[in-house]
Amino acid sequence: MSYARLDFSSSVNVFLDCNGYFVCELCQFSRQAIGEVGDFHAASTDEIVEHLEAHVEAGGLVPRGAFERLREDQEENDVWLRDLWRKRTA
Ligand SMILES: [Zn+2]
Repeated sequence: MSYARLDFSSSVNVFLDCNGYFVCELCQFSRQAIGEVGDFHAASTDEIVEHLEAHVEAGGLVPRGAFERLREDQEENDVWLRDLWRKRTA
């Protein structure tokens, strides 16, 4: 499930990964010591929304629709994530 794609209106690529987390792909905040850019993972809707707000504060472009759709899907996504991790750690 994609929430934002890199294009003229978005500087982030964000999706819900079927492995059980949100991904902010090639995230500017996950830069590692040697200058590699990696992915940021978030375990809940609140966490990815907070992360995307940090992108906006840093001057990044995040489409308003991404926030709206994340909130629309929040209940379903967070229940799915919680159930998935509960099963994995059981
Ligand atoms: Zn990011």
